[in-house]
Amino acid sequence: FMQSYTSCLPHSFSLPLTSNEHLFCSVVLIDHGSVTVSSRSRKIRQTPFLCIMCDSFVDCPPLGLESMRVHDSQIRASSTLRTGLGPHRGRLNIQSGIEDGDMYDGAWCARHEDKNQWLEVDAVHLTKFTGVILQGRNSIWSWDMVETYKVQLSNDSYKWQTCMNGTQEAIFQGNLNTETPVLALLPVPTVARYIRINPQTWYSNGTICLRAEILGCRVKVSNDNLDFRHHNYKDMRTLMKSVNDECPNITRIYTIGRSYMGLKLYVMEISDNPGKHELGEPEFRYVAGMHGNEVLGRELVLNLMQYLCQQFKEGNERIVRLITETRIHLLPSMNPDGYEVAYEKGSELAGWADGRFSYEGIDLNHNFPDLNNIMWNAQEKALEKSQDTSKVPNHYIPMPEYYTNEDAMVAPVTRAVINWMEEIPFVLSANLHGGELVVTYPYDCTRDWAPKEDTPTADNAFFRWLATVYASTNLVMSNPDRRICHYEDFQRHNNIINGGAWHTVPGSMNDFSYLHTNCFEVTVELSCDKFPHASELPVEWENNKESLLVYMEQVHRGIKGVIRDKQTKKGIADAIIKVDDHEHDIRSAEGGDYWRLLNPGEYKIIVWAVGYFPSMRRCTVGMEPRATICDITLTKTPAEVLKQIRARGGKVPQDVQLRVRALRLKKLRASTKVLNQRRESQRLSRHSSKARAAARKA
Ligand SMILES: [Zn+2]
Repeated sequence: FMQSYTSCLPHSFSLPLTSNEHLFCSVVLIDHGSVTVSSRSRKIRQTPFLCIMCDSFVDCPPLGLESMRVHDSQIRASSTLRTGLGPHRGRLNIQSGIEDGDMYDGAWCARHEDKNQWLEVDAVHLTKFTGVILQGRNSIWSWDMVETYKVQLSNDSYKWQTCMNGTQEAIFQGNLNTETPVLALLPVPTVARYIRINPQTWYSNGTICLRAEILGCRVKVSNDNLDFRHHNYKDMRTLMKSVNDECPNITRIYTIGRSYMGLKLYVMEISDNPGKHELGEPEFRYVAGMHGNEVLGRELVLNLMQYLCQQFKEGNERIVRLITETRIHLLPSMNPDGYEVAYEKGSELAGWADGRFSYEGIDLNHNFPDLNNIMWNAQEKALEKSQDTSKVPNHYIPMPEYYTNEDAMVAPVTRAVINWMEEIPFVLSANLHGGELVVTYPYDCTRDWAPKEDTPTADNAFFRWLATVYASTNLVMSNPDRRICHYEDFQRHNNIINGGAWHTVPGSMNDFSYLHTNCFEVTVELSCDKFPHASELPVEWENNKESLLVYMEQVHRGIKGVIRDKQTKKGIADAIIKVDDHEHDIRSAEGGDYWRLLNPGEYKIIVWAVGYFPSMRRCTVGMEPRATICDITLTKTPAEVLKQIRARGGKVPQDVQLRVRALRLKKLRASTKVLNQRRESQRLSRHSSKARAAARKA
């Protein structure tokens, strides 16, 4: 039965079922794509609870010495009598050849006869060991077996602990004959990675020989009760709905558009006041599944919304603060059409590119307007005219005309996301991908079409900080012993890299975000495997949980405040906030509030708005992860006041008239002074050249 189950696994769906505990304790019935799991005593309808149900069974399944699931390389021994009696032969029920002494003998046998001999099994994962099954040597000619033994456990195979029975080392009963398997349960099931069988006494006329099986359950990797499985479009919608039902006060589902095939782009908003932008509260977004076959981000984002809802309800202080102070938007699937293609094929058979593109074959991460080259061309033109290139803006670059054409090759989902980016004053975002383990920061597009070249933004230091925050808290990336995914060693760069330094990507979402809006965005490549098997999802959640949380908290770095009209105290929208010596401005939102992500330091902030005098203020950003409040009030120019009064058809008050007149006079005086100075210097130079000419003649 299990074989038929296993063979249909990659085609239709995936279940969290690689570890043997499930095979042992559950029966899986497959019925038209939906799954019913029944265990011995109860029926379980939802697969995610499988792990939990099975974990509660005391009798864990065999690791697989007999079935060969445990590889030869996982079994070691203190010594070996002969190659044919090596540790790899210490497997329950293994049969010897007819003659002793060949390569295929019927047990592991130690070379020495003392109490220091052992057979060691590496379970690879943390395992709750519950028992050992022991058997003697299979042989026509010899009679060897272990009568009593101890068990040792270890997490690293260096430091060992002997299994105790109360205060004494436990002595387990072994075999009375060579063939009957004897089960011994550990007094206390113990979690470890390595286990040793350590013979104490053995059949007196024989030597130390044994065959064994180990019982153990793979330890549940996550304590969070989340829906760990792959969610297709329908399942995703159902899950989001259930989160919304569970936490109606802090969640809201909305859509930002449709895919080419008509699937909706669902967004989960999480905030203490869903549906509203609150003055001063920064907006954050995670976008996943831009490449439909890079599915881990989608599941992590779905895990994240469940987790935030559960933890908020439980009063987890960190989560409550995050949700109260931030408006979080989660888009789990930007390319739902592509995802469905990959999902159909499953985690192993989807290959490397099935489902990456949109239905029309567009790579969405090349589909945003290429504002980089517009900016660089403008800079070059300025250079030709020997103008200051720093005057060419690298912010709020408008969309190029070709892009807004009806028939431009722009995916509907790209347009939907652009509208979304323009509508909400996002401050920080991450774009979740897969297939590598690295965090990349803009620019993604190199200058002059170089295939790869470090191409930093004006905010390079902060972007490197952002990337580091994610990479250094991710449990896989930060593990110094991890292997490289394919061929590039990103660990050399602490798992972060400038996008352009990796490979150029014109029209990326991150670059567009930076050059067209206030929002800073990095790309996270979450895992070597683009479509991890469902059984890996709990581990991946644990690998990324802290990173996902701590990255969101970075939205509260730098300075923030409200730009207000001095007189009316009303917020001023679209004011330009400039950091001195820093060539990237941001703008205030609808209510005059703004957020400027900055590393710790002292900054001179200059603010402009149409119809106002510019204003300057010094603000200091500290080390603590809280934004420094830096409110600024602007004074309307008298001309603007006049204009507004006239527009209302009102009478101009005398003081305003006087101020306007005084200002005009001041301006006139200043310009006259400049004019006079210029005339004077011209006169002098004419005079001196005449003098020189006269001198030459003379
Ligand atoms: Zn990707």
